Amino acid sequence: MHALVVSDLHIDATHAAIGRQFVAFLDGEARAADALYILGDLFETWIGDDDRDPHRQEVIAALKRLSASGVELYVMAGNRDFLYGRDFETATGATVLTDPTLVTRYGRTVLVTHGDALCTDDAPYQRLRAMVRDPEWQRVFLRLPRATREALAEAARTGSKQHTAQQSQMLMDVNPDAVTAVFRAADVDTILHGHTHRPGLHDLRIDGRPRRRIVTGDWTHDGSVVVWDTDGLRLESRPRA
Ligand code: MN
Repeated sequence: MHALVVSDLHIDATHAAIGRQFVAFLDGEARAADALYILGDLFETWIGDDDRDPHRQEVIAALKRLSASGVELYVMAGNRDFLYGRDFETATGATVLTDPTLVTRYGRTVLVTHGDALCTDDAPYQRLRAMVRDPEWQRVFLRLPRATREALAEAARTGSKQHTAQQSQMLMDVNPDAVTAVFRAADVDTILHGHTHRPGLHDLRIDGRPRRRIVTGDWTHDGSVVVWDTDGLRLESRPRA
């Protein structure tokens, strides 16, 4: 009995090896799990459920095989792929999770989140996030022709890369006060997130209680997986074959 948690695969045409490793993971290791959670940035972009990128379609087919085999599948939006809709759920058999979500399994409750909302030092990004997460903005965007949405997404990626390159490393990581506030508000001992591409375990004590923040890594070089069972949560890597 265990669940698996991953994030930040950023599947697209430019890193085909990631897609191959992830499809093998979905058709292999993941079949033995009770559930798979994907905590955002599964795809490098997602301009709507009419996306036709062949690399992403291969992953969608593999996700469907996994869910059809009986494994519960949950997908959270990231900052790259926040436009999942009903058709995506149907195509994959996944349930799209709101961010954040409390998950209780194996006697433990964990707050799962993509992680970008914790990076509060990056004020320009937080303003952009508030805009694109607005349902009215999304409704207008999704009515644009697909080619227009793809062009806008490409421009946004370029802008995001420039912005990321200009920001200090501090500003791009989570804000400690934001983390503390979430631990308190959610009344949990474990927060699990991705986004920063800085896999690790961070132990801290808040209000006299030991707490742990677990960060899943990206799949740029190797796979990064959290295994969650009755013993707790472990961060592991999966070397690229
Ligand atoms: Mn992200």
